[in-house]
Amino acid sequence: MQSVKMSLEEAHALAVRCLMQHGADEENARAVADIVTAAERDLCHSHGLFRIPGYVASLKSGKVNGKARPAVSDLAPSVVQVAGDGGFAPLALEVGRAALVERAKSNGIAALALNDIYHFAALWPETEALAEQGLAAFAFTAAFPYVVAPGGRTPIFGTNPMAFAWPRPGKHPMVFDQASSTMARGEIMIAARDGHSVPYGAGIDRNGKDTTDPKAILDGGAQLAFGGYKGAALAMMVELLVGALIGDKLSFEAKAADNGDGGPPVGGELIIALDPARFGDGAGFAAHADLLFERMLSDDGVRLPGDRRRKAREETARDGIHVQESLSRTLQELIGS
Ligand code: NDP
Repeated sequence: MQSVKMSLEEAHALAVRCLMQHGADEENARAVADIVTAAERDLCHSHGLFRIPGYVASLKSGKVNGKARPAVSDLAPSVVQVAGDGGFAPLALEVGRAALVERAKSNGIAALALNDIYHFAALWPETEALAEQGLAAFAFTAAFPYVVAPGGRTPIFGTNPMAFAWPRPGKHPMVFDQASSTMARGEIMIAARDGHSVPYGAGIDRNGKDTTDPKAILDGGAQLAFGGYKGAALAMMVELLVGALIGDKLSFEAKAADNGDGGPPVGGELIIALDPARFGDGAGFAAHADLLFERMLSDDGVRLPGDRRRKAREETARDGIHVQESLSRTLQELIGS
């Protein structure tokens, strides 16, 4: 596959230009570009520059407010809300993070509800940033309805990712971030684009039959939750947390509200942060957790979630990134050159 090499700084500048060219102001464009570049840095291509055409489509259609001014308010002593003003999620997150950290440190636990945002990114940046400030954190968001309930044929749940991060003072936090579908939608789209098959269990075709053809899944078929009904229960839990709990859209409501521009769904996100120092073991939590991690890692072949991304950082800082040629061409077209 032909690719174009660029530095992370070049990728960031390109993302900013694409977004600003199509109606985002500098603050919103920079916040999205930060997240997209972090995904490229960590070799998470499905949430990197690959997403820029979708972000731009939503600016062009007028669905997303590229000049959003997210506003923070308190719903309860430990519950912070950010009204996203119909903008992309990254700026809303930035705006709400300090209040979440402060409430979690003073109360031991706190939640941040982001409303009226458009989320199109990986979730690990949310939780990793909190773990770097000493907090354990969960994050959840929904999507469009792509995943069937067990036994069903009609997609009802989003691919509904969930992320968790654990702080390790003096070390990198442990972070996992996973969709509740067998595969992330973006990975299936990339497989369709590149003519690759996907593993069995990723989805069904329009007749409800298991298929390895990503196009059959995307074209009238549906995705499957990981682990059968157990993953589907987690997808349902995420719908309840980011839809019913915080008063935002369920995945099928997001679809009903959407204009089909190919960009992200409108909806909410819930982040829960815990300060381990305020729970039973005080400062002992870190050494105790390390006992677990060290024992896991003493078994050959085991690694911690998040370690692949961290290794990728060394590589991309040194060598830059490789952007698929057709994507690079699309991005150049978006900036009008
Ligand atoms: P993966 O299956 O690629 O990875 C899931 C997690 O498992 C990662 O934390 C990964 O860590 C870890 N992992 C993978 N292999 C191992 C291993 N051998 N040992 C230990 N840990 C391992 O992710 P998904 O395909 O499920 O999701 C991809 C992304 O898509 C996520 O970032 C998610 O947030 C995003 N997404 C976003 C949506 C949205 O609407 N905004 C919707 C759905 C998904 P590592 O990274 O180090 O490999």
